[in-house]
Amino acid sequence: MQRYAPSMTTIDLRRLHLRQGEVRRERLDVELEPFVLGGQRYEPGPAVFPVELEISQASGATVFVMALETHLTGPCMRCLAFAEVEPRGSAREFHDPDAPPADELRSDYVAADHLDVSAWARDVIALELPEQILCRPDCAGLCPSCGKDLNAEPHEHVERELDPRWAALGDLRDQL
Ligand SMILES: [Zn+2]
Ligand SMILES: [Zn+2]
Repeated sequence: MQRYAPSMTTIDLRRLHLRQGEVRRERLDVELEPFVLGGQRYEPGPAVFPVELEISQASGATVFVMALETHLTGPCMRCLAFAEVEPRGSAREFHDPDAPPADELRSDYVAADHLDVSAWARDVIALELPEQILCRPDCAGLCPSCGKDLNAEPHEHVERELDPRWAALGDLRDQL
């Protein structure tokens, strides 16, 4: 199956024409590519999700407030069973086209008078992701010795393979 690159959602800042104090609310559809974390793939479902934007004009800068909520599914980072997360978050950006480069009033997500809503939304989601995506908070994971699922089959291995150093000591003792 061929995959197409997701479309980028942007806002053309030249078309906003906001007056000072005016607030505009917009709901935009953003297409999200899967996240790859710790070598595992987490798919957004649905791939296109709504982002709420509030745009206002303050003195000297346009203020963007984003709020979003999405859903990702993929393997549990401990046992590889199905896991899902629902990152939700909000963020704020300021942009003044006349601010010098690297100034905090110059948003990193604005290029050529367009706010890159897709890139910003992706970063907001990335910040909201838990350190570990798990099937359940107390997932016991896979057994490091035999690889079996410790949730389904809780067990310990009592017999351990003899450490080669102990084996050498054993040989030594036999020789004494
Ligand atoms: Zn798990
Ligand atoms: Zn085991």
